[in-house]
Amino acid sequence: MKHTLIHWLPAAALALSPVLALAQAPAAPAAAPAAPAAAPPPIATTKVPGTSNVYVFRNGGHQAMFVVTDQGVIATDPVAYGRPTGGQQYVDEIRKVTDKPIRYLVYSHHHFDHIAGGKAFKDAGAKVVAHRRAYERLKLLNDPHTVLPDADEVVEDRGRVLRLGGVIVELSYHGVNHSDSTLVMRLPQERVVFIVDTIPVGTFPARGLIDFHPLESEQFMEKVLAMDWDTLIPGHPGPGGRLGTKADVREQLQLLRDASEAMKPLAYAGKCWDQGEREFALPKYQNMPGYAAGLPFLARRMCGLWGRGT
Ligand SMILES: [Zn+2]
Repeated sequence: MKHTLIHWLPAAALALSPVLALAQAPAAPAAAPAAPAAAPPPIATTKVPGTSNVYVFRNGGHQAMFVVTDQGVIATDPVAYGRPTGGQQYVDEIRKVTDKPIRYLVYSHHHFDHIAGGKAFKDAGAKVVAHRRAYERLKLLNDPHTVLPDADEVVEDRGRVLRLGGVIVELSYHGVNHSDSTLVMRLPQERVVFIVDTIPVGTFPARGLIDFHPLESEQFMEKVLAMDWDTLIPGHPGPGGRLGTKADVREQLQLLRDASEAMKPLAYAGKCWDQGEREFALPKYQNMPGYAAGLPFLARRMCGLWGRGT
């Protein structure tokens, strides 16, 4: 079973996991050379357990949700940054599941690593839906690989409910957290949420902290915990490719609180940036996948917050 899991893992998750990295290391002394591990498939589509119509499309270390209904498909995030054929490959994966039209493509937020590659969906007739801040930001950026949301499909702060073929997808906005354009996508009937980057599943936060508001993210996580759902689909696979639960949200919320408490005395002593960042550590999380890589990002963000008020 463990073997199967390792094969299935995206490279990014493997690199993040010291336990699995250990499991992959050749046993010494080996009686016979082990067969080389097959590379994980770059693309995989899996049905979310407990649902009959909700799927996760993964491309490398990124993933998105799509929902199949009698009246068509609601897809999210093309996840094709640096992958010129990624959008079409995603459409092709949907076509393996259903021949119903792709009616909507919903952006989780405006970052290119999640939303580049939407042209194939647009060509297939999908309406492109995003929060107003994503629309405004993308208009300014004018990225050659990222399709602008449709002006008449923009989601205002009050949110929006998509209804298609008896399926409900609730899009809600909660201000800044990771980016200022994040939509929570909740499927009340399937008890699933799709939330990208604000709440990593089982891994230490890292580059996502570049566009991140820690205190508002704590409030965001509290709001997400108060919502009714069982399964969290993250924008990057959790360890072993697993999905998340409310326990993962509580863990990330506590991690942010612990990080603030660790940085405050350093910041208040006037040690931000350099000295404070060097002295900052969270040993409680040192065995969490991604700790070593993510710690400098968290130190910089926390120094900014408590040492500068940013
Ligand atoms: Zn992001």
